[in-house]
Amino acid sequence: MHSVALGSRFVIPLRNPLRKIQLPHSPSSPVKLFSLLSDLHSLTKMENFWTGGLVDKNKKMVESLERYGVIKSKEVAEVMERIDRGVFVQSGTPAYVDSPMQIGFNATISAPHMHATCLELLKQHLQPGMRALDVGSGTGYLTACFAIMVGPQGRAVGVEHIPELVSFSIENIKKSAASSLLEGSLSVHISDGRLGWAELAPYDAIHVGAAAAEIPDALVEQLKPGGRMVIPVGTIFQDLKVIDKKLDGSISTHIETSVRYVPLTSKDAQLRG
Ligand code: SAH
Repeated sequence: MHSVALGSRFVIPLRNPLRKIQLPHSPSSPVKLFSLLSDLHSLTKMENFWTGGLVDKNKKMVESLERYGVIKSKEVAEVMERIDRGVFVQSGTPAYVDSPMQIGFNATISAPHMHATCLELLKQHLQPGMRALDVGSGTGYLTACFAIMVGPQGRAVGVEHIPELVSFSIENIKKSAASSLLEGSLSVHISDGRLGWAELAPYDAIHVGAAAAEIPDALVEQLKPGGRMVIPVGTIFQDLKVIDKKLDGSISTHIETSVRYVPLTSKDAQLRG
């Protein structure tokens, strides 16, 4: 993995699909005809930008992340293409820019490169039939990705302590490619994520979307032997830690990169800011 700190302001510029279009008055010469066809092609592309372009923009975002080497695998590219980030942000928010965005309640949707990084780190533990826990599920974006990856025979659980964000995430998931899995293999719960979600433990994959001062014991306990947890740890300076529970129950930890997440804390502390 790259040693570059993927901080919150790492922005991948997406190609601007708007360019100047001048229609020639008469397509009398072959050169002019070619120019007209080429301009019409641009016009179609421009129309796509304004109308059917959302899915297209999501695809372009995924392609950028692949070009930059953040997405390395077909599985991650596929799930990020299927789950359109655009339906997980409030209207008016530039969904496809590689930056975290405010979602209210002093929370943010993580930047696309962080979602991609966490999916890459967890992909072996998100195989069909496996169980995944998303702590601090926020918008529900990663919970939906997990649900698609583990499939209807698996289980994806989101835990979020702000009730309004749980409702928001459920509405978002309903608009996404994971909608048919809701309340089947995918559920989102209002709870303190530091306690995990014991009812459906143990988990092959645990993702924590907020930075913990200390790694919560309950989460380590709820990790299956052979499972992996990805968790930002720290206060001002934070590391994205990868915790592997070996089959004998012992734990190995490595630091993947430096990050900046909102804190994993009490609801009151978060709302106070
Ligand atoms: N992965 C989410 C990240 C949202 S930001 C996304 O990209 O949409 C982190 C989230 O963690 C916030 O929604 C915040 O409300 C939640 N959070 C913080 N502390 C928590 C706790 N103790 N229990 C549950 N959720 C928590």
